[in-house]
Amino acid sequence: MRAVSAIASPLRRINPVTRQTTRRCFSSSYKLQATWGFIGLGRMGFPMARNLRAKLPIDDTLIIQDVNKAATSKFLQENPEGVRIADNAREVAEKSETIITVLPESHHVAGVYKQILEPPSLLNDGTAKERLFIDCSTIDPVISQSVADATHSSGQGKFVDAPMSGGVVGAQAGTLTFMIGALPEIVDRATEILSMMGRRVLHLGDQGSGLHGKLANNYLLALNNIATAEAMNMGIQWGLDPKALANMINISTGKCWPSEVNNPVPGVIEGSPACRGYEGGFGVALASKDLKLAIKAAKECGIKLGLGEHAKALYDEVEATETCKGRDFSVVYRYLGGKE
Ligand code: NAD
Repeated sequence: MRAVSAIASPLRRINPVTRQTTRRCFSSSYKLQATWGFIGLGRMGFPMARNLRAKLPIDDTLIIQDVNKAATSKFLQENPEGVRIADNAREVAEKSETIITVLPESHHVAGVYKQILEPPSLLNDGTAKERLFIDCSTIDPVISQSVADATHSSGQGKFVDAPMSGGVVGAQAGTLTFMIGALPEIVDRATEILSMMGRRVLHLGDQGSGLHGKLANNYLLALNNIATAEAMNMGIQWGLDPKALANMINISTGKCWPSEVNNPVPGVIEGSPACRGYEGGFGVALASKDLKLAIKAAKECGIKLGLGEHAKALYDEVEATETCKGRDFSVVYRYLGGKE
């Protein structure tokens, strides 16, 4: 794995305070790019696009698109300088050298790229080889690969899978971590771009590797979350003090992100979702979605899993429970009957 430094990047020379006096040419080089595309302005995409816009040179244009017109209107209202709304995904791609997509599920990504790449005529005059598509969505690696293949075979640009972690809070603060799968020659350029929206960019290998890394991590996270809720519930039912138990675990071998940062017991970690009725945070449905993707991708490669299916079934039951639905995934503790 290669952690790529953003500091050494040539694109950093284009910094937000630079005021260009002449319009830069669309096609000459990515270092001179002037038009950017962003598709999918949801919970993650909206703040990411805002951070990107804030860090781009003043004269650059950000072209945005979302099927939800309220999202693009709100974005334009809040960021009136250098932002334009496109009617569809194809228009975004035709006008941009770099296109970032942040969409919910595999079929959304496949649909948007189909719209972009078909018909397969050149999207503009001779600039296709410069074009870079960065997909930050968490989707099925097989679908991502087929979209990458379609992009490359159409000659319309290069494709990078760059799923992220850090949640909505990280997207707002610009502190996301991106896990990217890209050919070595694209890594620096992708890193420079993603560094405007995040703190770390980890290159895990060729196309598809970003998603495999993300799914392996989220598989572990989903299991750790359930195990932490069960262990905390067990200890508390045995009469242990919640904070004392968490402190002990967090200097012992059970320590993990759900025990240390996102502890499921209200009052143990100040500011955690558990302390605000499990509102916000990483939703149960998202945990279930990522587990499903990881299990499918593992099965397709003949990889044996012991716990995944049980965990997925449990998350689905949690989401179907009225008092837990739509909450942070640490609400598993409530589902187990944990003392709040
Ligand atoms: P979201 O549902 O809030 O936003 C998705 C946006 O895409 C919406 O605005 C929707 O209108 C738009 N959209 C859907 N179909 C479209 C289409 N065909 N054309 C244009 N726009 C379209 O989702 P999100 O929470 O922002 O998540 C986006 C991706 O990031 C998902 O793959 C998710 O798994 C991943 N992710 C989310 C989080 C999180 O905490 N929310 C964290 C890490 C990764």
